[in-house]
Amino acid sequence: MYDVNSKCADDFIDHGEILETLAYADENKENIELIDSIIEKAKKRKGLSHREASVLLACPLEEKNEEIYRLAEQIKKDFYGNRIVMFAPLYLSNYCINGCTYCPYHAKNKHIPRKQLSQEDIRREVIALQDMGHKRLALEAGEDPVRNTMEYYLKSIETIYSIKHKNGAIRRVNINIAATTVDNYRLLKEAGIGTYILFQETYHKESYLELHPTGPKHDYNYHTEAMDRAMEGGIDDVGLGVLFGLDKYRYEFAGLLMHAEHLEAAFGVGPHTISVPRLKHADDIDPGDFDNGIDDDTFAKIVACIRIAVPYTGMIISTRENQKTRERVLHLGISQISGGSRTSVGGYYEQEPEDEKSEQFDVSDNRTLDEVVRWLMEMDYIPSFCTACYREGRTGDRFMSLCKSGQIQNCCHPNALMTLKEYLMDYASPETKAIGDRLIEKETLNVPNEKARAVVLENLRLIEQDNRRDFRF
Ligand code: SF4
Ligand code: SF4
Repeated sequence: MYDVNSKCADDFIDHGEILETLAYADENKENIELIDSIIEKAKKRKGLSHREASVLLACPLEEKNEEIYRLAEQIKKDFYGNRIVMFAPLYLSNYCINGCTYCPYHAKNKHIPRKQLSQEDIRREVIALQDMGHKRLALEAGEDPVRNTMEYYLKSIETIYSIKHKNGAIRRVNINIAATTVDNYRLLKEAGIGTYILFQETYHKESYLELHPTGPKHDYNYHTEAMDRAMEGGIDDVGLGVLFGLDKYRYEFAGLLMHAEHLEAAFGVGPHTISVPRLKHADDIDPGDFDNGIDDDTFAKIVACIRIAVPYTGMIISTRENQKTRERVLHLGISQISGGSRTSVGGYYEQEPEDEKSEQFDVSDNRTLDEVVRWLMEMDYIPSFCTACYREGRTGDRFMSLCKSGQIQNCCHPNALMTLKEYLMDYASPETKAIGDRLIEKETLNVPNEKARAVVLENLRLIEQDNRRDFRF
């Protein structure tokens, strides 16, 4: 029985409710009056329910879809301006006891090299990441209670935060690890993580059980209720995501929004981020073996509809997608992208030899971080290396209320300019630096508050002339 407040996954992701939502969306997908009223509601920037958003997603009318895209673009601009936050994944270990049929780290894969970074390896990787200019990491690891222990994660986080190489520092560590207990989430919070990320993979329970035939991840309810436990453990920034391609995308879309609604109803804080990965080729995984792949147009529509339905949430796209796809969805709603990524365990410090490849998926965007930063700026985006909120205690409901009211922009824009300036000074190629300096000059004029603008100008000067770092609003 559907109950948004229930702590049981079967209730807040109720299968019957999703089926009714899809039927409702089918019945109304050409109902212009209803679609117009949903678009009008969305213009208030307070979001949409999963039923309303599902109608927009199902709508085949070209003219209405153009309106949806335009609105998504506008909402993206209103909440995020032209800033794009940069991050990189760091794979700690690919040991895994689960049997996920879509991931090459599944336990039955006996030929993929298994690796776990030692603290010394982590040091080397992090220095390499700092030397690229990264300030924000997403840690990734398989599930292996013997090797990938909580103790190991806590030590790794401590190591990462402790490394200060030249002007570099990792200032925010997000973590994407298997569902765990409230006590463990509490430990992660105390260790200073930013966002806890866990992809649902699929909200369709029956498919989920088939796609996860063995290992602890087989327990759908334990996995789906993980964010509730994370919140109970004090982690108030959580990141949702589904792996598009596993089940029908409209089912996943409704489930994803119901999950967001549940977190908002039960804890007063919706998801900090939503990721939109698509199934990709990897080692022994062929996306053609799965029936539900989505094309680029559908993918763009999903991004636009999520943007409209959950305006306050950050949206993440990884290097699973190529440059062209990333370009298309950036202005429809994406606010964070990875750059210069390696999806193997190790690989930043030194490339893996051909016969020792441990990638989780093939990377479709192989450009360096410098190239990605330049590309963004050439399209008039401001690449941001900002990590200020969590360090200023702006997390959970505090962050959400600032975000929903639009006030967060007063911090994001200046912080983007100052962290970009740091990047340009320390890591950029001369060509990138020249483009960036021009962009910063132009964008400083867009800091609306006169006092704040003066502070930004002074800090930019201190970064350039006095080699000072880490200013933030
Ligand atoms: S998706 Fe995660 S849990 Fe599943 S096999 Fe891959 S690493 Fe393990
Ligand atoms: S100020 Fe906060 S919300 Fe804005 S970019 Fe920085 S960390 Fe993100």
